[in-house]
Amino acid sequence: MAAPESEPALCVVLHDVAPQTWDAYQPFVAFAERLGVPLTLLVVPDFHHAGDLRRHPQFVSAMNARLARGDEIALHGYFHADDLPLRGDPVDFFMRRVYTREAEFYRLDTTAAGERLRRGLELFAGLGWHASGFVAPAWLPGPGTRAALRGLPLRYTSTSQTLIDLRSKRTHKAPGLVWSARSRWRRAVSERVNLALLRRHRAAPLLRLGLHPVDMQHAAARQFWTDALTQLLTCRTALTKSTWLDQAA
Ligand SMILES: [Zn+2]
Repeated sequence: MAAPESEPALCVVLHDVAPQTWDAYQPFVAFAERLGVPLTLLVVPDFHHAGDLRRHPQFVSAMNARLARGDEIALHGYFHADDLPLRGDPVDFFMRRVYTREAEFYRLDTTAAGERLRRGLELFAGLGWHASGFVAPAWLPGPGTRAALRGLPLRYTSTSQTLIDLRSKRTHKAPGLVWSARSRWRRAVSERVNLALLRRHRAAPLLRLGLHPVDMQHAAARQFWTDALTQLLTCRTALTKSTWLDQAA
């Protein structure tokens, strides 16, 4: 693990950015814009097989406007849906049905992962976007995906607690805050857990706020994110992931 010498930083990362979810993010995006916070947008090329970006010119224009403002687009899966059959063992069942149902890149072998990653990068390139990062849905890149990433022109990938520079091979500690907002009890637990994480990681060189579309449906989650961002900006600089890596290099 390496810690850069720069001042403490913060990345605000919007997950699952797609034509189906972009509207829900608008109040938060406007809030971040007022604070001058650049966003890292994890964009899905064809969200759940129903959001092929080539058929959504308005969304593409919205992303182009964000890029012009200094946001960054990273590749976040291709479909963001785990369509492979279950393997039949309890660990596989837990990871792919209880922990998440979205782990698209968890079970892909190297060839399939490489093909799908290239397909996503090509779709982005066709829209004029150059993504330097890939984040696996649910932060679950399987061994096949990890191997495939080594042969691609990508700068970084991340897990739930690290940011991995694929060029220098450095793994940077990057604690992340994330909500599980699907049910009332999960939201109550999320608030307590995230407040504790804020305290525990107050000296971390890089902290990530990972927002999901479902968070935007719940007042407690929305309030937490806007409060946390406002408070963190008093002692941290907000950067996109690529900009942070440039400074750390
Ligand atoms: Zn996701």
